[in-house]
Amino acid sequence: MKVTKFGGSSLASAEQLSKVLEIIKSDKQRKFIVVSAPGKENPVDTKVTDSLIAYHDAYVTGAELSEIQNSIINRFKRIIEALQINPKLIDIITKDILSLSQLPQEDNPYLYDTFLAAGENNNAKLVAEYFRQNGLKARYINPGQAGLIVSNEPQNARILPSSYDKMEKLREYEGILVIPGFFGITADNHICTFSRGGSDITGSLIAAATSADLYENFTDVDGMFAAHPGVVKNPHSIKELTYKEMRELAYAGFSVLHDEALIPAYRGQVPLVIKNTNNPSHPGTKIVLERSTDKNPVVGISGDDKFISINMSKYLMNREVGFGRKVLQILEDLHIRWEHMPTGIDDLSIVIREREMTPIKEKEILTYLTHNLEVDEVSVTKNLSIIMIVGENMKSHVGVTATATKALSENKINITMISQGSSEVSVMFVVNSKDEKKAIKALYQAFFKE
Ligand code: ASP
Repeated sequence: MKVTKFGGSSLASAEQLSKVLEIIKSDKQRKFIVVSAPGKENPVDTKVTDSLIAYHDAYVTGAELSEIQNSIINRFKRIIEALQINPKLIDIITKDILSLSQLPQEDNPYLYDTFLAAGENNNAKLVAEYFRQNGLKARYINPGQAGLIVSNEPQNARILPSSYDKMEKLREYEGILVIPGFFGITADNHICTFSRGGSDITGSLIAAATSADLYENFTDVDGMFAAHPGVVKNPHSIKELTYKEMRELAYAGFSVLHDEALIPAYRGQVPLVIKNTNNPSHPGTKIVLERSTDKNPVVGISGDDKFISINMSKYLMNREVGFGRKVLQILEDLHIRWEHMPTGIDDLSIVIREREMTPIKEKEILTYLTHNLEVDEVSVTKNLSIIMIVGENMKSHVGVTATATKALSENKINITMISQGSSEVSVMFVVNSKDEKKAIKALYQAFFKE
């Protein structure tokens, strides 16, 4: 039995939906279908979820609503008409979209979530009706009926552990169930969404709760590429990847799947595959607990920009008890998340994402380090990128870092920092952002082409 999730681009138009129908028809094991809201039909199009945000904002600021309401309704209407789905559904969806502007604004922490969830909720109804009209025994089921009960954290919901038992019962339903992704219901019956892109999480939760044999995540690419196709020309797609490798690659720029979507499938030990709605015969990328085929030390190379580092040095830093804690304390006080902390004997750098810093926070940190911690030197380096080479097999290979540094040095790329965790799943290089693309190309060449 399989849980199959379709992302917004797979459901953006009538044409895409007909591909989805064929995919479901072609495999009887596809029993739980999780859907996103319709995404972009073309690069300049707007995702329904983004239109719902605009609708919410117009509602709370008292702006004119009919234009945005109509644009959302028309998105669904166009699909329904093109697929000749029962036109009654247009009335149902219209009523639902209009009813959002009757919701109370005061004391309603779930208002935003309720607007957003309308995208997936109405789309699930549409998909179920379309399946039914094409001979499939399918029905829509909402997250409340499905037992997906979540915490009271608007836009950041988490599943309540007790939900798993309830959701396990989904196995008993006959036929195909179409479930809207992205949101659950709180114990006190409010709609509460996961963070953006959260339909992946719904699919993963259902796969884990029902002990599915496979969680299929359909998107618009042939799985995960070994490097970003915008940087490396025609990179190969990865056949198999472990959960740990996926997490490391996703951390630095591979955004094929929501970060949190890995955990439930991982804990439930359900294998996951990323496939392409536009090319369903391609095997895609399988995410597994243990890789069986590819014994290469490196499976993929990722990179992400917009990092900065706070660098400090102090003579005899290594002998000063509590120095590290005091540095991290100031970050905690300023509510700054840090990512990496490469150290030397007398120096220490803290790498953070650029968005965590403001000019005021930067000034406070520098003053604190100089006056309270009496460091000898302190500086902030901007425009940094992180490059990761990822592969669980690195731990059983000697010379992987040597190959990487050789490739970087031959391309005259200065490595600002280097770091490897004890699990040896990845090696991270910090470089100036101007060298990021060059570095990824050089590493791809070194690990996959030579
Ligand atoms: N529609 C939601 C979003 O755009 C959730 C999803 O597609 O996964 O974030």
